[in-house]
Amino acid sequence: MNYYKPDTILYHNGEFVKAAEAKMDLYSQSLHYGYSVFEGIRSYKTTDGSTAVFKAVEHFERLKISAEAINLPYAFDTQTLIDATYEVLKQNNLGDAYIRPVVYAPANMSFARNTESFVFIEAWEMAPFLGDKLLRMMTSSFQRPNPKAFKIHAKAAGHYVNSILASQEAKDKGYDEAFLLDMNDHLAEGPGANLFFEKDGVLFTPQPGHILAGITRATVLEICTQLGIEVREGTYTMQDIKAADAAFFCGTAAEVIGWHSLDEYIFSKPFSETKSFQVQQAYKQLVVKPLTN
Ligand code: PMP
Repeated sequence: MNYYKPDTILYHNGEFVKAAEAKMDLYSQSLHYGYSVFEGIRSYKTTDGSTAVFKAVEHFERLKISAEAINLPYAFDTQTLIDATYEVLKQNNLGDAYIRPVVYAPANMSFARNTESFVFIEAWEMAPFLGDKLLRMMTSSFQRPNPKAFKIHAKAAGHYVNSILASQEAKDKGYDEAFLLDMNDHLAEGPGANLFFEKDGVLFTPQPGHILAGITRATVLEICTQLGIEVREGTYTMQDIKAADAAFFCGTAAEVIGWHSLDEYIFSKPFSETKSFQVQQAYKQLVVKPLTN
């Protein structure tokens, strides 16, 4: 994957600079200890030809919440970062793109707090892939982190070592992706996406507590309200999902993508006949709606 070319522009601490020339301090506490926060955002080319960053405010507000959760100073203004994002998209001529803001710490080899932090925003082309290809899932041997060990509602870089281990394990074993339980063996989430499953026309999703309750998850809950689909948040087990008619992942990068199977269990209802499919279709339309303001 080529994330940038020599003339690609990114935003770095108030300036627009060439990706190949942007520099960061190799003594940064973020690099050594995974102590940074980030976002994953998508922009879409909308039906009127304009480019819209989907849920921009929600993502940059979460970036701030993530930084505060781990005591990283955060002196950035949401609107400034949104404007910078649109400028990065424009300068790189991007429509359907993935946007990656990162807030990181200065040089600091100790564990002490910092008095400042830095930000960059990168973007690269990424087509929507809301797919018909259903995922072959594996229950991971890794659990999601203990909420008493990490601020798991924060999108902090270090947490993603857990995601990488789980995803690599699943792919090494020939699956498309991993699904992780929490420390109590309750259904949790994927390495980078939230879970919904469906039984008899009702959707179920793990409640916040042991998951990163995503912005797409919140959007799916809104879509369910609009479509009159019943949805319950709770604590669920492997037994629940292995009796389900369908299941899907949702996340900014994954969008809404159905599951074919979990381990040996195959979701037998044709996905196109499920409520989950209706949600997928509604999400597909929502992301390409032009912004109204
Ligand atoms: N869980 C984890 C662990 C994630 O990394 C993500 C991606 N940010 C999600 C869920 C989905 O979140 P969102 O819908 O906000 O992208």
